[in-house]
Amino acid sequence: MDGQPTAHTDASVLDRRGLDQLIEVLRARGYRVVGPTVEDSAIVLAELESGTQLPSGWGVTTGPGTYRLRRRDDAAVFGHSAGPQSWKRFLHPPRQHQWSVDRNGAFTAPAPDDRPYALVGVRGCDLAAIAVLRRVLCPDPNADSPTAQRFQQLFVVAAHCTEPGGVCFCASMGTGPAAGPGYDLALTERIDDEHGHRFLVEVGTENGAGVLAEVAHRAAAPAEIDDARYAVSTAAGRMGRTMPDVDLRQLLRAARDADVWDDVASRCLTCGNCTMVCPTCFCTTSEDITDLTGEHAERWQHWSSCFEPDFSHLHGGNVRTSGESRYRQWMSHKLGTWFDQFGSSGCVGCGRCIDWCPVGIDITEEAARLAQGLPADSAEDP
Ligand code: SF4
Ligand code: SF4
Repeated sequence: MDGQPTAHTDASVLDRRGLDQLIEVLRARGYRVVGPTVEDSAIVLAELESGTQLPSGWGVTTGPGTYRLRRRDDAAVFGHSAGPQSWKRFLHPPRQHQWSVDRNGAFTAPAPDDRPYALVGVRGCDLAAIAVLRRVLCPDPNADSPTAQRFQQLFVVAAHCTEPGGVCFCASMGTGPAAGPGYDLALTERIDDEHGHRFLVEVGTENGAGVLAEVAHRAAAPAEIDDARYAVSTAAGRMGRTMPDVDLRQLLRAARDADVWDDVASRCLTCGNCTMVCPTCFCTTSEDITDLTGEHAERWQHWSSCFEPDFSHLHGGNVRTSGESRYRQWMSHKLGTWFDQFGSSGCVGCGRCIDWCPVGIDITEEAARLAQGLPADSAEDP
């Protein structure tokens, strides 16, 4: 992925009704269609019964510790940047019932819900995050597990981004604004007086081509393709944030004793919001619960956070007792040791952790402070 739209010569165009029809076709094929919609004063991700639920005419204003819905002066449905939720909640659910057991020894495991998901409106940053999660959670992509099955059956309708937000920095992470590989169909939303509301459609897979064939569309004119490409490429220059252009893995490795950690800890509430909203944070813990009679017990898996005091509980004690050590662990893993474990950055530049940090701690700002505070030769391998 190079942040530029992929060259396609056979793009098509859907009108606004065509997008609704695309959702109908996906539902008719048995997919649970998930996309953006407005709820609780935010753009959230939810199962859609029709295209009328898309956030038509809504945009967002974002900043450190700030997220506000705003009315747009057009009817764009993808005219907003990342919201509080990511697609992670569908591929790696926040709470999963693992098994139940009764005192008489009867053991039951819940039947997996194996209906496939179709995700509509996935940005480049989030498409990259889905690829990261897939590598982390399904090292064997053909594994016979409910999680692997969710990824195997996934249908992705990407949305090339033309509306970056104030905390976005996907361009500097190489994950956007154009959606990279991994989509079945990719849309670029365009609205103007001359041609109305429409979506340039690019096909990424045979499955995508099959779905598109069932939706009313027409061939795109070369000028329409150029217009859409231009809109996406210029979005790269309108992002509110940039990650410093340094070797992040080496930077974090060399920054173990930096004063920055102490300063961040003086602001950080160790609330864990940043890990909950992050589309790639994947840690979980297990919880065993019983009813009051002691006749029935259940095991549940739920998301966990490296900011929780007990997260690093080992052999009777916590390894990371201070907020300083926990923030350093989170950022060092995200931007540094993730490369060693999984071969890529753990950060895709979506900006959610900046929006939803209650005290507005900004990962790009802290990385820049680390980069400025270290002598040029200290980011070498020890
Ligand atoms: S670390 Fe922050 S910006 Fe990076 S992927 Fe996670 S939430 Fe998005
Ligand atoms: S960095 Fe912000 S969101 Fe993350 S734990 Fe600290 S206060 Fe909470």
